Amino acid sequence: MKLYSTLDRKIVDIVPIKQGELSIYSCGPTVYFRMHLGNLRAYVNWDILHRALLYLGYDVKRVMNITDVGHMSSTDDFGSDFGEDKMDKQAIQEGIQPIDIANKYTDTVLDDFRSLNILAPNGSEIPKDLTHENIQEYGWSRATEYIQQIIDIVKKIEANGYTYETKQAVYFDVTKIPEYTIFTGQQLSEKEIGVREEVEVDDEKKNPADFVLWMKRVGKYKDHIMNWPSPWGDGFPGWHIECTAMGTSILGEHFDIHTGGIDHIPVHHTNERAQNIGTFGHPVVKYWIHNEWLLNKDEDKLSKSKGGAYTLPEIILLGFDPLDVRYFFVSINYKTKVKFSLEALEGAKNSRLSLLRRVQELGKKQGTVIPEYVERFKHELENNLNMSGVLALINELLKSNNPKENILSTIYDFDKVLRLNLNSEIVKEENVDSEIEGILKQREEARLNKNFLESDRLRDLILSKGYKVLDTPNGQTLEKI
Ligand code: AMP
Ligand code: ZN
Repeated sequence: MKLYSTLDRKIVDIVPIKQGELSIYSCGPTVYFRMHLGNLRAYVNWDILHRALLYLGYDVKRVMNITDVGHMSSTDDFGSDFGEDKMDKQAIQEGIQPIDIANKYTDTVLDDFRSLNILAPNGSEIPKDLTHENIQEYGWSRATEYIQQIIDIVKKIEANGYTYETKQAVYFDVTKIPEYTIFTGQQLSEKEIGVREEVEVDDEKKNPADFVLWMKRVGKYKDHIMNWPSPWGDGFPGWHIECTAMGTSILGEHFDIHTGGIDHIPVHHTNERAQNIGTFGHPVVKYWIHNEWLLNKDEDKLSKSKGGAYTLPEIILLGFDPLDVRYFFVSINYKTKVKFSLEALEGAKNSRLSLLRRVQELGKKQGTVIPEYVERFKHELENNLNMSGVLALINELLKSNNPKENILSTIYDFDKVLRLNLNSEIVKEENVDSEIEGILKQREEARLNKNFLESDRLRDLILSKGYKVLDTPNGQTLEKI
């Protein structure tokens, strides 16, 4: 397998620590809001990696954290430690406890992942009834369940001489790590400009780039809702320590791959790497892999503040299927910046439906997988997840003069990685009974009148009768479920 390693600054051969096995830690969601498509891009990209590795025969050990405490918001890109706690802020706004916010949004994460056919970190499909209550069994780890491990790790870092304590916090002293800025190649002084503000917040802080390991429940945070006792007083963990604690307590002090968004490179992963060295005296992660941005129409990062940040339910309301979104993400490599627009999503939808139609035209009879195509498919996956190569290969396979049933079986085999439900059926309207036709007509009218609530209600009604409605440029089509 070849992937782009951020530290090596090039595509490298992934050599597993233990032959045949790959351990992966994926930075997961902070659960205080409904994720937008930008956030979801990362999880689909890493799902492709996960499924590709399983397809290639690796034994994958994967963990994804759920940040349900202490993720501070910052107005800059330097990861301020003294912002507002996003969980606390949202809890106050919604008038409920932070833990209820975390549970509520963990459930929406699971809903979105399920709709997008994303595997649970343990490699299972996400069951319909899986909720925040039993996710740990499926490979997610919640920060609030690892407070003891977090405290133990901070104690180790402290015992190893990498920390200092002020009235407000326990800090990691970044000057103790000679190659602290190895990811960016920045000078520490350049980084300091961005974090200077914080010196004003805690005048005992030694270097602007030092970051919090344990925040005390004093000063600005004296009313912080979530807090735990610790050797340094009541408080809560800093922004980065949970990933070191969970990653190493589950995967050990050496693991293969760590994934995240490119925004994690200069702060979160720089700090995580420093903590790893502070704890164990050596780096822990063999390959750091990062996904690129999903951009809005102004070529800015798609985000709530900069626009274009549709959630999955909003996209469904606009008449798309979650698998249109998956197709859109599947068709691009994780290292490619890509512009999102509803027109681009419409394009993905058309391509997906056309692929579905072509697969359907092959009939139902299955044969055997075609070894030559399987080898080429593996080759494209191993080549840094070359998804455009995969799609071109599928196109070639569909046009080839192999027996139809063998083409079909090969496509179904590839769908273990793509997970576009290529075995689902698009039903021609003439085969549908008149009751459903009537509902379809009403729905068309509702959509023409932009009555999306009604159109949605009718879509659910049709769904309860065993069909999924797809809105295509040529009108509604049905897919049997
Ligand atoms: P945030 O809520 O902005 O901290 O984002 C949470 C995660 O989503 C981070 O890992 C980001 O890398 C990822 N993310 C946010 N926006 C985008 C985007 N427009 N494109 C790709 N990833 C994103
Ligand atoms: Zn992380």
